[in-house]
Order: sequence, then structure tokens, then C-alpha cells
Amino acid sequence: MSQYDYLVVGAGLFGAVFAHEAALKGKKIKVIEKRSHLAGNIYTKKVEDIHVHTYGAHIFHTSDKAIWDYVNQFAEFNRYTNSPIANYKGEIYNLPFNMNTFNRLWGVVTPEQAMAKIEEQRAVLDGKKPENLEEQAISLVGTDIYEKLIKDYTEKQWGKACRDLPAFIIRRLPVRLTYDNNYFNDTYQGIPIGGYTQIVEKLLAHQNIDLEVNVDFFAEKAAYLKDFPKIIFTGMIDQFFDYQLGELEYRSLQFETEVVDKENYQGNAVVNYTDAETPYTRIIEHKHFEFGTQPKTVITKEFPKTWKQGDEPYYPVNNERNNRLYKAYKALADKEQQVIFGGRLGQYRYYDMHQVIAAALQCVKKEVR
Ligand code: FAD
Ligand code: UDP
Repeated sequence: MSQYDYLVVGAGLFGAVFAHEAALKGKKIKVIEKRSHLAGNIYTKKVEDIHVHTYGAHIFHTSDKAIWDYVNQFAEFNRYTNSPIANYKGEIYNLPFNMNTFNRLWGVVTPEQAMAKIEEQRAVLDGKKPENLEEQAISLVGTDIYEKLIKDYTEKQWGKACRDLPAFIIRRLPVRLTYDNNYFNDTYQGIPIGGYTQIVEKLLAHQNIDLEVNVDFFAEKAAYLKDFPKIIFTGMIDQFFDYQLGELEYRSLQFETEVVDKENYQGNAVVNYTDAETPYTRIIEHKHFEFGTQPKTVITKEFPKTWKQGDEPYYPVNNERNNRLYKAYKALADKEQQVIFGGRLGQYRYYDMHQVIAAALQCVKKEVR
């Protein structure tokens, strides 16, 4: 048996919060990470003096004061408010769907006029309760916005027809009858000054925690199970069980990052391309998250990709088939006394960062005495 109380598999946010809190309670923890760096998908690194969000744009937002205070222990946050814009064949629309969007699209000026337009367009549903993403979108914002700003973007992003996707995905976006371009409804929002990586570095900087990178759990699975009394696993739950019940579906991404020799490339941190022809979903211009004034800029194009074994599994695909299969894996996991499954991949959930922190804190409370 090893000298450690816990093995944490994955140095992402879930693993790091768990390790940190368990260390504060006097436990000894070994963290292994298969990538060459810590922080999982919130990893940021400096390029041209700009903090680049290596695995996609990350904006921290929450309405939970306790979670906001928690994360503020590890970084100071700026006042960034996410206000992406959509580019549909050269036409620019404000997101999320709000009076600015409705005005640009229909020329309407008042909330009553916008509501009347949406009501008129949602009539195609004939009062039917929305059962998939297409119906949910039309019910929320009507057919015009669905056609220009949702349908093609969503089908690129997920590689599936909107009719075959769950309604909850589009409910992530607010719909507002006010002229408010804030992408989130939450009370607290911002970007950590100096990037996200420092948060995980500070979480793991404790004498009771040892971190090893470039180590894949599956290279020595049997030995780890033999040596460690308890394991916190934040990788893919189906892989842990050798895909014995079948593969869960994930969505992968390819990021293409380039330095551009101009000060300001697109005038906004996030621009979504909502047409079918553009092969990427969005372009991120990282400096705008921190109001940067550097002479050059760094942009990242995000290309969605079908996931296959060996690719990075960025998103769980929470449709009915996969949720059913996950439940079957969860039943196996519940029988596994030695291993606790956490995070986006371990729990197969479309978790945001604040939710991952809350789940990890909950897990420590339950598990570590
Ligand atoms: P991860 O960050 O995936 O960490 C898991 C770690 O485990 C990884 O480092 C992985 O390499 C490691 N690992 C896996 N298997 C093994 C193994 N076998 N052996 C060793 N190590 C292993 N959230 C927000 O709140 N706001 C946003 O704006 C936002 N934008 C996002 C944009 C994109 C493109 C993506 C993909 C996610 C976004 N998120 C956002 C979600 C956020 O990234 C997650 O909630 C959070 O990072 C999940 O943390 P985690 O620890 O569960 O997973
Ligand atoms: N979405 C869309 N058009 C947009 C932005 C988002 O149709 O311009 C839909 C799309 O289906 C996406 C979902 O809304 O998957 C959730 O968007 P969010 O920005 O939360 O996605 P994430 O940042 O997690 O990829």
C-alpha cells in the first residue's frame, strides 16, 4: 500500500479542488495527469504577452456567492462581461438573443413588438410542447433566429440534426426582452487577471500533494487499484470500465491558433459563425478577455470534430441514448467502493466551471472526514 490516502486522476479543476481541500484536512494525495501540464481544459498560457485559452474560451460566471468567494482566493478577477456577436454571412447580430438582436433582424423597437413577432413565428409549433432542440429554439425565439443564428451553428457544433438534440442545450442561452448583451444571467462574472493556470497551480501547491504529469492512469491501472485505498477519477467513465457496456459519445474540437500582426483583429473576444459553410464555429481573440493593448494579437478558430478513441473528449453528448448508457455505467460506478467519479468526464455532464467546483467541494464534504 502506498503512503497516500488518495490518488487523484486528472489535474483539471475537479481533481485540483478535491486535492486541495483533502490536503487541508490532512490527507496525503498523489495527482497524476496524462497531459504535459496541469489545469485540464482551463489551461491558459502566454503568447505574445497575451493569455491564450488553449482549450477554448473560458468565462467564469456564477450566482453562488460562496463559489465566487472560493475562486477569488486563487486569483483576482477583472470586470469582463461576455457579449459574443454572431456573424451570419457578413450580417452581425448581438448575442444572446435580446432586443438588439430582434431590432437588427425585424426592425422592432419595443418588447411588445418583439414578443408579437416571436408569437407569430412560434405558431408553426401549433402549441406543441418542445421535445428537441429545434422545437425548443423556435418556441423561444421564432423561426428566423432559428434559421440564421441557431440551426447551422448547432449542427456544426454537435454533428447532429437539431431535431436529434436535447432541448436543454439551447436553454443555456438567455432570451431577453431588454437591450442587454450580457451572455450570462449570473450575478458574478469575470476573467482571472493573469490567466486560469495560476488557480490550479495554487490549488495544488500544498506539501501534502504530489503531482506527476505525462502519466496515464490506464498505463498502470491494476497497480494503482492495488496501491491506493481511494481513487478520484476525473477521466472518461466508460474508458475506466473498458467500454464494456459500449462507448459513450463525446464531441471533440480542433483548435487552430495563430499570431496576427495587427493590434485588433475582430474587435470582440468571441465571434460566432452561424452559417453552414464556414467550417469553424467561432473565432476567439484572446486579448479582449483582458482588455489587452499588445501590438500583436492571437486568435483561435474552433473546429468541431467527431470524437473517436484517442481524441480529446471535450463535450459529453447528453442525448437520451447516451444518458441511458451513462446510467448503466453509473450503476457499475456505485458498486465500485474504491473509486469516486467526478467532473465533466467522470460524471458525463455538461458542467461549467462553477458547477465543477461546487461538485468537488460536495464530494470532499461527503468523502473526507
Ligand atoms: P477537465 O478539465 O477535462 O480535467 C480532467 C483532466 O483529467 C484532464 O486534464 C485530462 O487530461 C485528465 N485525464 C483524463 N484521463 C486521464 C487519465 N487516464 N490519466 C491521467 N489523466 C487523465 N466553463 C465555464 O464555466 N465557462 C466557460 O466559458 C466554459 N467554456 C468552455 C469551452 C470549451 C470549449 C470547453 C470544452 C469547456 C468549457 N467550459 C466552460 C467547461 C470547463 O472547461 C469545465 O467545466 C471544467 O474545465 C471541467 O473540469 P474537469 O476537472 O471536470 O475536467
Ligand atoms: N448556440 C447557437 N448559436 C450561437 C451560440 C450558441 O445555436 O451563436 C447554441 C448551440 O447549440 C450551442 C448552445 O447554444 O451548443 C450552447 O451555447 P454555449 O455558448 O453555451 O456553448 P459552449 O460555450 O458550451 O460551447
